[in-house]
Amino acid sequence: MSHDLVIRGGQVITPHDTFAADIGITGERIATIGHGLNGARTIDARGLYVIPGAIDGHVHLTDPDYAPLYTPNADSFEVGSRAGAFGGVTTFVDFAAPKAGLNLVEALDRRRRQADGHVVTDYALTLTLRDTDPERLEELPAIFERAVTSVKMFMAFEGYQLNDVTIFRAMEIVAAHRGLAVLHAENFDIIKELRRRRADSETDPQWHLSTAPSITEGEAVHRVLAFARHTGARMLLFHQSCEEGVREIRLAKARGQAVYGEVCVAYLVYTSDDYARTIERGYTIQVSPPIREAHHQAALWQALADGTLDIVSADHGPQPRQPGKPGRGVSSIETRLSLIHHLGVRQGRLSLNRWVEVCCTNPAKVFGLPRKGQLIPGYDADLVLFDPNKTVTLTPETLHSAIDYCSYDGLTVHGFPVATLSRGEVIVEEGRFVGRPGRGRFIARGRAAAKDDPVATT
Ligand code: MN
Ligand code: MN
Repeated sequence: MSHDLVIRGGQVITPHDTFAADIGITGERIATIGHGLNGARTIDARGLYVIPGAIDGHVHLTDPDYAPLYTPNADSFEVGSRAGAFGGVTTFVDFAAPKAGLNLVEALDRRRRQADGHVVTDYALTLTLRDTDPERLEELPAIFERAVTSVKMFMAFEGYQLNDVTIFRAMEIVAAHRGLAVLHAENFDIIKELRRRRADSETDPQWHLSTAPSITEGEAVHRVLAFARHTGARMLLFHQSCEEGVREIRLAKARGQAVYGEVCVAYLVYTSDDYARTIERGYTIQVSPPIREAHHQAALWQALADGTLDIVSADHGPQPRQPGKPGRGVSSIETRLSLIHHLGVRQGRLSLNRWVEVCCTNPAKVFGLPRKGQLIPGYDADLVLFDPNKTVTLTPETLHSAIDYCSYDGLTVHGFPVATLSRGEVIVEEGRFVGRPGRGRFIARGRAAAKDDPVATT
């Protein structure tokens, strides 16, 4: 049997195995994994890792209708998805985040129109609920009907923060529809009180850290875990930053709750010591919850290795630079896979297999992305050819975001993708983008099977 394309002789890495093999691709799917395969085209992958396309479950590309907290982010769907493709990302999950008063379905359709025809890779959406009106919750089933099966809820920020009752009620609906509740967990009332006491202080990254101590996160994580336990909602806790939160997730998993934890790249690269290195660096890593002291970071790496945390995401959201100001916002969509390889695998914190699991496989399982995240015949031929010896110094010039700064500026990584395939099509090779804007698709997502824990069972 001849394939359309054969990836020959690479080191195939899955969450459970590492082996040399050819991968035969027919059309958009993986057809065969074996030896001596033939194809109309062959790509020599000797010396390279062949892994599933990276999946980023947490990305904020430009939303002209509903700006995030400050100004709209710099990277459009086209630019951001292309930057991701350079970094091995073949599917990402963005958000529709209608402000209170707006119809959820209309907002979702509008967000899709912003992406469709522009994305270069596949994408999915999470619906961000910002409205505490009980009648708004009645629109959630229609969101699930549109194959958007995750609902993001903020416990922080003006215009985003939901009260406990709204979160609880939304979780009941999520549970009934076997979806996924996604939480930004912080006790914002206490954070606001601590900020108020320091109202005349400078609002720099150190101020940001000191007004959001780790107990404000640990308490909020504990609270929503209790809600999820009572309602039966599957839940993903976004951007864990501290020991307290990780401990709560570990306890919840031990009692059998379907809960997942995310950590974002910047928390694994930096500690609060980095705020003071340069003003520029400080603002490009100012996030909520804040990047904390080194002992918290050590707990995050440990939790990622031992299965307490399940996925690594970018939380990509660089903002256009304001005149005379430092750049703001973390840019990680292109660097996530390489940074976690560099700091995780090369420094002995994660196995190669665990690296693939947390960057590629688990995001597909947690978000219910069909035929994604694994190298299995019948799955989409989303693949990355990763050269473990390629050295790249991360700068705005070597990366592809629409910004002139970089959260990881000057950091040199060993290991970087050299080719990215999306549904059988080579879209990045030899440092060039060879795909086409608009080729990416919206991915309709499945719902969790009853009593199924898709991460734990495979
Ligand atoms: Mn958040
Ligand atoms: Mn975010």
